[in-house]
Amino acid sequence: MEKLIITAAITGSRVTRDVAPYIPITPDEIVQSAIECWDAGAAVVHIHVRDPKTGLGTQHRDLFRQVVEPLREKSDLVLCLTTSGIPGRNLPIDERLRPLELEPELASYDAGSINLGESVFINTPEFLETAAKRMRDKGVKPELEVFDVGMIVTCLRMRDQGYLEEPLHFQFVLGTPWGSPATPKSFLHMYEYLPQNSTWSIIGIGKGHLPMSMIGLIMGGHIRVGMEDNIYYQKGVLAASNAQFVERIVRITREYGREVATPREAREILGLRKN
Ligand code: ZN
Repeated sequence: MEKLIITAAITGSRVTRDVAPYIPITPDEIVQSAIECWDAGAAVVHIHVRDPKTGLGTQHRDLFRQVVEPLREKSDLVLCLTTSGIPGRNLPIDERLRPLELEPELASYDAGSINLGESVFINTPEFLETAAKRMRDKGVKPELEVFDVGMIVTCLRMRDQGYLEEPLHFQFVLGTPWGSPATPKSFLHMYEYLPQNSTWSIIGIGKGHLPMSMIGLIMGGHIRVGMEDNIYYQKGVLAASNAQFVERIVRITREYGREVATPREAREILGLRKN
C-alpha cells in the first residue's frame, strides 16, 4: 500500500483558548507546533492564522507570511494554506484567496456550501470558479474539501468544465453536525464517486477523529489530524499538543505495517509542482 501522508491541522479559525487551552494562536506558536508535528512525522501542515485582537481566523497576508517564511526556512513541510477564512463569516472572495499570493503547494478548496451552527459557510459557484482559476495560475494544487456527495459531484463537474485538473486530491470532512456523519457507511458511499486516479485524505471531526483516521489507514488513503478538527486526545482528556495526535497515527500506522510518507514522498504522491 502507498505510504501514508499525515497532515496536521494546527489551529483552524474558530476554536478559542477558553475551550482549548493549548491551541496555538500567535504565528510563533503556530510555527512551533508545526515543527513539532514535522518532527513527529507529519508531511503536510494545514495553516490558518489568527487575528491577534479577536483570536479568530483572518486571511491577513502578513500574518500568513509570519508563519510561511519560518516554516520554509526550518523545514521541508508541504504547506497547505486555507482559503476558507472563517467558515460562516463569509469573507469577500479576494480576501479569502489572499494566502495564494504566498504560492503554497496546496490550498484548501471547500467544494460547496453547508450550514455551520446558526450560520452558513457559503462557497458560491463564483467563489469555486475564481479559486480554481487562481490556484491553477499560481501552480497551487487544490485540496478538495468535501462534506457530502454533492460536493464531490460539484468537483467532477468542474473537472469536466476544465476548472479542475486530474488527478484530483480530495479531503473528506466527516462528522460535522451538518454534513455527512463520520461512519464507514457514509464514507464508502462518498468514496464510490471518486475517479480511480484520485488521491484522498480524511478528517473525522470531534469523536470521529480516530475512527475516520483508521478508515484512511486501512483503505489506502491519507489522514489529517490536529486541533482544528478535534481538541480531545481521548474522551474527556484535552490534547496537550498537535504533535501528540501525529505521534499516535505514526505508531498505529507502523504497527499496522504501512509506512509514513516524508514530505518529499508526499510531493510525489500528490503530484505537487517542483519548487
Ligand atoms: Zn482549515
